[in-house]
Amino acid sequence: MRFLSGIQPSGNITLGNYIGAIRNFVKLQDNKDFTDFLVFVADMHAITVPQDKTKLRANIRSLVALYLACGLDPKKVHIFIQSEVHEHAELAWVLECNGYIGELERMTQFKDKKAKQTEGVSVGLLTYPSLMAADILLYDADVVPVGQDQKQHLELTRNLAERFNNKYGETFIIPEPFISKDGAKIMSLQDPTKKMSKSDPNPKGYVALLDDINVIKNKIKSAVTDSEGTIRYDVENKPGVSNLLTILSVIKGKDIKTLEKEYEGKNYQAFKEDVIEAVISEIKPIQDRYNELINSKELDQVLDEGRDYASFLARKKLTKVYNKVGLGRKR
Ligand code: ATP
Ligand code: MG
Repeated sequence: MRFLSGIQPSGNITLGNYIGAIRNFVKLQDNKDFTDFLVFVADMHAITVPQDKTKLRANIRSLVALYLACGLDPKKVHIFIQSEVHEHAELAWVLECNGYIGELERMTQFKDKKAKQTEGVSVGLLTYPSLMAADILLYDADVVPVGQDQKQHLELTRNLAERFNNKYGETFIIPEPFISKDGAKIMSLQDPTKKMSKSDPNPKGYVALLDDINVIKNKIKSAVTDSEGTIRYDVENKPGVSNLLTILSVIKGKDIKTLEKEYEGKNYQAFKEDVIEAVISEIKPIQDRYNELINSKELDQVLDEGRDYASFLARKKLTKVYNKVGLGRKR
């Protein structure tokens, strides 16, 4: 079985990305069912919205260092940068020609991000899911772990793959979503009805893995709660408290019910102190390892190996696709 997942270097990697994605990759890399484990930096996805080139380059490297600092082991995982394997863009084009504008316009992420654009909405923002489908289908990935927020895109990938297989004959494996049951979706600290996002223009909405420890403390301290004063899980009426309970539950490995009992009669301040302590004890060692890695040669060696390995797989698949569609000369 082949495992594949990626994150966009579109900002500061958040606690949401960690809990919803990276932490699960780290756990799964030891799973013997996976013969192949691919994790990439989705830099081509990042440019669907405007990016500063210097920051983008820095964010790409930073994300790779974070992958390693969080515990991805290059002996078990091939780590690569999406734009260094040009087949992603090539397959995306073929898929776009088999996708419909209507199905892309229905995507929640498109609608959300479109609403936030002040300098016009790029075509790439609309066609983003066909590039994501290419990322996945290029490698015959069986298992693609995504947060709740990406579920719709994965569903579209499955539809595009099925449509292609029906039209041109068996070509792609239909990927299975892998969504961790608890803590899959972390919400914004300032608006807990919206998901925590690294591209949130208000940095108080997210905890970044590389935030200063004091900044993390303050962000959690000022997280929006409610005036009820009891610590219980109720997403509808108490989204802020519920979000903090989710974070604590995932980091401590305790279920929400147990936490609700533990915090019976306690106030929000004491509760937040514990959330702060838990988050910091998780993040601090990651930051220490990150600082050792960010300027190391090891990082480039890891990326070269990952690129070569991914390119080999991608080239084979794309040749097959071109032959099925009738592009170029027979190879
Ligand atoms: P952007 O705002 O640029 O889209 P993002 O924070 O949504 O950034 P992505 O690169 O889109 O991050 O997603 C990377 C991974 O993190 C995906 O697997 C996604 O499902 C997961 N993820 C993103 N946000 C959250 C969240 N709030 N809670 C849990 N998982 C999340
Ligand atoms: Mg996103």
